Amino acid sequence: MDNFKHLPEPFRIRVIEPVKRTTIEYREEALKRAGMNPFLLDSEDVFIDLLTDSGTGAVTQDMQAAMLRGDEAYSGSRSYHALCKAVKEIFGYEYTIPTHQGRGAEQVYIPVLIEKCLREKGGDRSKMVAISNYFFDTTQGHTQINQCVARNVYTPNAFNTKVYEDFKGNFDLEKLEQSIQEIGPQHVPYIVLTITCNSAGGQPVSIANMKAAYEIAKKYDIPVVMDSARFAENAYFIQQREKEYADWTIEQITYESYKYADMLAMSAKKDAMVPMGGLLCFKDEKWLEEYNACRTLCVVQEGFPTYGGLEGGAMERLAVGLRDGMRQDWLEYRIAQVRYLVEGLEAIGIYCQQPGGHAAFVDAGRLLPHIPAEQFPAQALSCELYRVAGIRAVEIGSFLLGRDPKTGKQLPCPAELLRLTIPRATYTQTHMDFIIEAFGRVKENVAKIRGLDFTYEPKVLRHFTARLKEI
Ligand SMILES: *Cc1c(COP(=O)(O)O)cnc(C)c1O
Repeated sequence: MDNFKHLPEPFRIRVIEPVKRTTIEYREEALKRAGMNPFLLDSEDVFIDLLTDSGTGAVTQDMQAAMLRGDEAYSGSRSYHALCKAVKEIFGYEYTIPTHQGRGAEQVYIPVLIEKCLREKGGDRSKMVAISNYFFDTTQGHTQINQCVARNVYTPNAFNTKVYEDFKGNFDLEKLEQSIQEIGPQHVPYIVLTITCNSAGGQPVSIANMKAAYEIAKKYDIPVVMDSARFAENAYFIQQREKEYADWTIEQITYESYKYADMLAMSAKKDAMVPMGGLLCFKDEKWLEEYNACRTLCVVQEGFPTYGGLEGGAMERLAVGLRDGMRQDWLEYRIAQVRYLVEGLEAIGIYCQQPGGHAAFVDAGRLLPHIPAEQFPAQALSCELYRVAGIRAVEIGSFLLGRDPKTGKQLPCPAELLRLTIPRATYTQTHMDFIIEAFGRVKENVAKIRGLDFTYEPKVLRHFTARLKEI
């Protein structure tokens, strides 16, 4: 706006959710009760909650108003048609199934695409390998419980926090084609294009890369699924960084991007701004058979296919959220807020992955070199951040990764990161300044932070329920 130094929130806040201020003694007690695992804290005891941006943000007034229009008919509701119309206009896709969230779409499409591959290409189930620029954890989970291996072929510098690249979410295209040949195209049931690439730190994928990956997939007749949680942030990065698209609107870039996939699966809890919701959509009549197979599975898993996992009002709200999430000034502000936080942290010597879409990723390994990976430096940092300032963040490192199921040994992790995830339109610039100040206090005391060890360790998905103690 007119070259001002500040980029204030482009909205007014009209609803207030009070939060509790707590003392350091109170938080030390709460941490003890939670077994040094902030995941187990009560939300009431958290002052700034940066656990996730999934379904935790504010909604717009148009979204709120749209909820009241809900048609709750069991079949063929008006709200379903409103949602289909929005999908058609925004992404150009013909067929829509609403789901309760992203993993609802995954549990439906993944078995259908694997069956299609077995039936049409005569592949061998024990040799199935699906490929992605990087699988989100639930997408990987659904792939694996369908006896298919999940392989990531990401760009070489994706996890190098010391190197800047415009599109760290990109596929390594050479490796993609090599992998297909090595696995055998008849054994690759699908390719998942994740935008933005969450696991690499919310990093974008360029249209050039999508296009090239799609051409490779077509050459070997493999379906491409766009895993679309942060489609609008990805479009914004393309507009800012990929020269050919500098003059395009977010809407035009989004429409163009979806030409390079056959289906989309979406967690609508991210860029589409709803507290709960998801989508599974198919491009055109070429995918009619898969669409119908997914509708059948949807009936038993999510609900009748014209409501899927959602009530009528929630479908109306989602139809509006898809559009509101693409506003230029909104995306500019959101990405700038993440960048502001990262730059503020780096200015006081707290190093991060280059700023991406939805979160700052603090390099905890670098900040706490005295704590070895198997004592979880990022988890220890997470506890200290809560103790000092009531801020809850989430460990993305060895603690999350877990052990090798065969040997029981801790798996080696490429980086020990602490993710500070920014919910949409929920926290202001002052909150960002407070977070940076809190890290300043943590840093003063950094040598005294101790590593952690388990007092209780579940065998799978341990990070959700494990309990720990200081060493
Ligand atoms: C969040 C997310 C999912 C899973 O969606 P849920 O709504 O949490 O079930 C899948 N893929 C990506 C890329 C995501 O960000």
